[in-house]
Amino acid sequence: MCIFCKIVNGEIPNNTVHENEQFLAFHDLYPKAPVHILVIPKQHVDCFQDVQPEVMAGMTMFIQEVAKKTGLDKTGYRLVANNGEDGGQEVMHLHFHILGGGKLRWDHSHEDPHKSI
Ligand code: 5GP
Ligand code: ZN
Repeated sequence: MCIFCKIVNGEIPNNTVHENEQFLAFHDLYPKAPVHILVIPKQHVDCFQDVQPEVMAGMTMFIQEVAKKTGLDKTGYRLVANNGEDGGQEVMHLHFHILGGGKLRWDHSHEDPHKSI
């Protein structure tokens, strides 16, 4: 079972922000912004590339609720879904990063900036 499924099952503790039957939002253990929340579907899906559009409809509403609950809807936030190896996805359970709580830098540097993608 993957690490996020263990969080859903309560085998690994988490700092929950918001929850419903289908989705869970919790604080990232190693925050990369003043506010760093992860949003996952409770049912395991490997990555964004595999997710059903119907699940994303629910996910959209849920993320908007999280933003309202935390006040990020007013101040702004960044939504990130790393997908696969080149995308830097480390946990193979679909998750969206909600980043905010301060002005964020925009740096998508390539490992080799001289190599064309
Ligand atoms: P990825 O690199 O796959 O897009 O993001 C995985 C995220 O999960 C990382 O930001 C990492 O800090 C976070 N993370 C990894 N293990 C745990 C954990 O056990 N608990 C929580 N709350 N976050 C985790
Ligand atoms: Zn999982």
